[in-house]
Amino acid sequence: MTGHGPSSGGPSRPAQAKQVTQGGLGPKPSLRLHLKPAAEEAVRSGHPWVFDQSIQKQNRPGQSGELAILYDRKDRFLGLGLFDPDSPLRVRVLHVGSPVPVQTDWWRQRLHQALQRRQGRFGPDTTGYRCIHGESDGWPGLVLDRYDDVLVLKLYTLAWLPWLATVSSLIQETLHPRSLVLRLSRNIQDLARQRQRLTDGMVLCGEPVQEPVPFLEHGLLFEADVCRGQKTGFFLDQRENRQRVRSLAAGRRMLNLFSFSGGFSLAAAAGGARCATDLDISAHALAAARRHFQLNASHPKVQQCRHQTLQADAFDWLPTAPRGSYDLVVVDPPALARQAADRDSALRAYRQLITASLRLLAPRGILVAASCTAYVRPAEFFALAREVAARSGRAWQELGTTGQPFDHPASFPEAEYLKCIYLQLGGPCPAKPRRKAG
Ligand code: SAH
Repeated sequence: MTGHGPSSGGPSRPAQAKQVTQGGLGPKPSLRLHLKPAAEEAVRSGHPWVFDQSIQKQNRPGQSGELAILYDRKDRFLGLGLFDPDSPLRVRVLHVGSPVPVQTDWWRQRLHQALQRRQGRFGPDTTGYRCIHGESDGWPGLVLDRYDDVLVLKLYTLAWLPWLATVSSLIQETLHPRSLVLRLSRNIQDLARQRQRLTDGMVLCGEPVQEPVPFLEHGLLFEADVCRGQKTGFFLDQRENRQRVRSLAAGRRMLNLFSFSGGFSLAAAAGGARCATDLDISAHALAAARRHFQLNASHPKVQQCRHQTLQADAFDWLPTAPRGSYDLVVVDPPALARQAADRDSALRAYRQLITASLRLLAPRGILVAASCTAYVRPAEFFALAREVAARSGRAWQELGTTGQPFDHPASFPEAEYLKCIYLQLGGPCPAKPRRKAG
């Protein structure tokens, strides 16, 4: 493999089909794809995915990670992207417009653009954030997270493997991490091991990683399980919501449903919550939550907050919990829809969770409900939450809604996955209707 990936050099029009060298296999014509009209329009307007069914014509079979040159109906250059024969999401678009040479300098510029977007946005009290957020940062299917001086590169497509050496040396030269860890999404782990002996959680360069890795979020000390934890070890996308919860928590009894490592409850504690309960199905997540409270024990407000963990299935536990026993409930379940077909069941589950969470709230209580699946649109999720609140028979007001933080940009609809609504109940619960005597 060359340092420039599987296929370098600029794309060309079919008439001039340039010969490029492909990883020692000898010259081959560039991989040329003609798209169906709807896909052509979508790509032109910035959508970064081309599915197998959208390809009208292809000049030859392509290799994983090879640059695919996309053409429109009139045989004009449309754009280029990474070819992925192992997935129905066949091309991840890198560039649209006029031809460009995709070489090391081009990648370097892309990296700088993503970093520039974040420059100056985080003070020294936040050392955990996303540096590259996939498609919406021009790096389709690739994520780069920073936890202090450790960087975690997560790949969601095998098409990045031939480019990995280039990408990791650019990251090293630009960001000088103490370690760069590779994470692989579950669906590509077997093939990545077979093809390039790459394993999930391996260190690509730098020192071996002493887990877990400490970092700061708005001054609070957290740890990320970067080699084995969910996502890249922490849910960085909820950072700003945690900060909002912190500002709403003073004096409240807080319940954190689907707590993972207690990010929301620690933020609430630091905001002056009286007590905080983390509920999760995973014992490992709850152990991390307890550890996070210990790590921040010198914070006076955290010290004063009574912290509890509860290992349970939230859906089973909620109906058994006493009514009106919390003043702040955060409900942040995992993606309840992982494909379009799951949408209806996800909506039913959100309805169930929000209904049950509202029941647990005392007068003036606050509900913070989040959804992290792109298959349920923000407007739909917010409407559902408002409808459930209206049906509760209690007075309520909306404190606001939020979307993704700026280090998780969304440049196309499928990238818009995270949304959150803040609702506050009014005065005392209505008395239970009494049975009529006689
Ligand atoms: N709010 C968290 C992230 C939540 S991730 C944060 O800010 O970091 C979703 C969590 O839900 C995971 O920790 C997972 O273990 C947990 N989980 C999944 N299904 C569950 C269930 N049925 N009941 C309780 N917890 C569950």
